[in-house]
Amino acid sequence: MKKIRLGKTDMMVTRIGFGGIPIQRLTEAEAVKVVRRCIDLGVNFIDTANGYTVSEERIGKAVKGRRDDVFIATKSGSREAAEIQKNLDLSLQRLDTDYIDLYQFHGVNDQATLDKILAPESELYIVFEKAKKAGKIRHIGITSHQIDIAKKQVESDRFETVMFPFNFITCEHAEELLPLCKEHDVGFIDMKPMAGGMLDNATIAFKYLFRFPDMVIIPGIEKIHEIEEIMDIYNGPHEMTAEENEKMQQMRDELGTRFCRRCDYCQPCQQEIPISMLMTFPSFVKRLPPDWYLKGPWIPGMMERAANCIECGECEARCPYQLPIREMIKESYDLYEKMKASA
Ligand code: SF4
Ligand code: SF4
Repeated sequence: MKKIRLGKTDMMVTRIGFGGIPIQRLTEAEAVKVVRRCIDLGVNFIDTANGYTVSEERIGKAVKGRRDDVFIATKSGSREAAEIQKNLDLSLQRLDTDYIDLYQFHGVNDQATLDKILAPESELYIVFEKAKKAGKIRHIGITSHQIDIAKKQVESDRFETVMFPFNFITCEHAEELLPLCKEHDVGFIDMKPMAGGMLDNATIAFKYLFRFPDMVIIPGIEKIHEIEEIMDIYNGPHEMTAEENEKMQQMRDELGTRFCRRCDYCQPCQQEIPISMLMTFPSFVKRLPPDWYLKGPWIPGMMERAANCIECGECEARCPYQLPIREMIKESYDLYEKMKASA
């Protein structure tokens, strides 16, 4: 598979990488098989996170003996220096490796957190720098869902990569972020190529993304046939047929008005409702194990807050995508109750 240079990291990564969220739903043996099949097919960039429960450990087992064939990226969502250090040591242990190729600040979507990371003598950044000097990590990256913050991350020149969601539904921002990354020589990692499981047409989704040569795309892979299908699309003609173009437009029209970008522009909600979490709940159900989305440490009490919505509509006035938030959080809450009852 063709490789691209991932910005100033100089890592030569395959255009298709591996997203490590869905393997949490599998048994360990199945997960190891899936990761190994991806590597056999040429995938050399694997992304996971401290927060993805068993994902790192399974990846560690899958790459045993083949560590030099792959680049491993993982992340910490902590905003405390000591905790980041703990997360990093745990990742190294779970991945059963001496080094992580790319270590990322996970999900930095607000200015205050970015300021904390970029402040002079920032303790958070120092943990990353020290780990880099010690050879525990090789490169420093960051991930975000919020376009204004992502742009600032790139412009700061403190990160070697940025990860941002990009698919043909949520394309408006990435199309402006990509040239900025190029200008600053920051590697672009595309998360959510299938819109977090909301798109079911891989051919259209990937043919669209193949129009952008300077990024690594990291679909979450749960089944071997999924990566095989993506590789067939990669190896086939990338040009969309007229019919596919038309279908893409139709899906944009249908889904674009119901797809939450998790940018949090709708906040603050006076009832402290975690809007983006509720809005993306259907995608959790598609990609994650029930224990994660029903019993995860951050779940209890959070989903129930949906019932406190007073329908003020302030969130909808702030959402740049005019999403019907009130209706969607109700639907998500109903789905949550249904999943809880059937668990
Ligand atoms: S509801 Fe709208 S503003 Fe809120 S996170 Fe989703 S896309 Fe962003
Ligand atoms: S409509 Fe509901 S969710 Fe939106 S801001 Fe008001 S209380 Fe919060």
